[in-house]
Amino acid sequence: MNTKTIAVLTSGGDAPGMNAAVRAVTRTGISSGMRVMGVRRGYNGLLNRDVFEMNLRSVSDIINDGGTALFTARSPEFNTPEGVKEAADNCRDMGIEGVVVIGGDGSFRGARDLTKAGIPCVCVPGTIDNDIASTEYTIGFDTAMNTAVEMVDRLRDTTESHDRCSVVEVMGRRCGDLALQTGIAVGATSILVPEVPFDFQRDIIDRMMFTQKTGKKHFIIVVAEGVGGVDKLAKDIEAKTGIETRATVLGHVQRGGSPTLRDRVVGTVMGYYAADLLYRGKGNRVVVMHDGKITDVDLNEALNMTRTFDKQLYDIAHRVSI
Ligand code: ADP
Repeated sequence: MNTKTIAVLTSGGDAPGMNAAVRAVTRTGISSGMRVMGVRRGYNGLLNRDVFEMNLRSVSDIINDGGTALFTARSPEFNTPEGVKEAADNCRDMGIEGVVVIGGDGSFRGARDLTKAGIPCVCVPGTIDNDIASTEYTIGFDTAMNTAVEMVDRLRDTTESHDRCSVVEVMGRRCGDLALQTGIAVGATSILVPEVPFDFQRDIIDRMMFTQKTGKKHFIIVVAEGVGGVDKLAKDIEAKTGIETRATVLGHVQRGGSPTLRDRVVGTVMGYYAADLLYRGKGNRVVVMHDGKITDVDLNEALNMTRTFDKQLYDIAHRVSI
């Protein structure tokens, strides 16, 4: 039997492009003959019954907006056996037979629990970090990369004018993808990521000295949030090289902004795919990108996968930034 009423929520960290996914879930669901409920503030909305029925126009004019029109939250109340049971009971009470959860790994764990409690969930990866093992791409990553590049380009102008070194922290607690891509795009002298241990002398100082000898006068070091310590790093670099060095943490600006074309398109296709899975009675799935194509995998298997870092690309970056 097909699911007749589904809900959609965004949970955890927000990401540009989540709105494209919400819009696609809503329109695909309604055009398939289902009722689609919007849930505000992630799992909190299921606990508080902050749920409303969507129509085709409820999601008009949001595809170009950053953030999430459904709002998002972290919900410690949901993350308990009692919380999950209450959310599942509320869903049954409101006639919700399936939920599309747009968020990161944490939100997916919540979706696994809710599925076990009897409400089939389909997950859509939405996080700027690109840190979900089961998919090669997460909604929001492209926008965040482009924002980071724009910000570092601005820093570069002033770094260049003053013959300085800039140490820039970009987001990515466990995953260096954002740092790697941004670092390549801005021509960083060194890129530090959580996946690859670094040696201060070999990977920063020696590289700076080498390029200085060939005429380079300004330097950008891109550091992933998970490596951290940019203030100390800047001081140490200045002490060792005598080059004036400043640390900048880009922070939450990387989360915001109008989604890029890629995030709007991937968000739309993944949202469509998620609603269609629930329409076909399939739950406990994650919508993923694999070899550039959108497909789906089992949610439990997805949560057990481990991410692989693109070491080859990292090595290329180091070969070229000299
Ligand atoms: P993200 O989805 O961006 O990784 P979080 O890790 O903050 O963000 O998770 C979002 C929400 O998902 C949490 O506030 C909580 O309600 C739920 N959640 C996270 N981890 C679990 C878990 N292990 N079991 C059940 N629910 C979880």
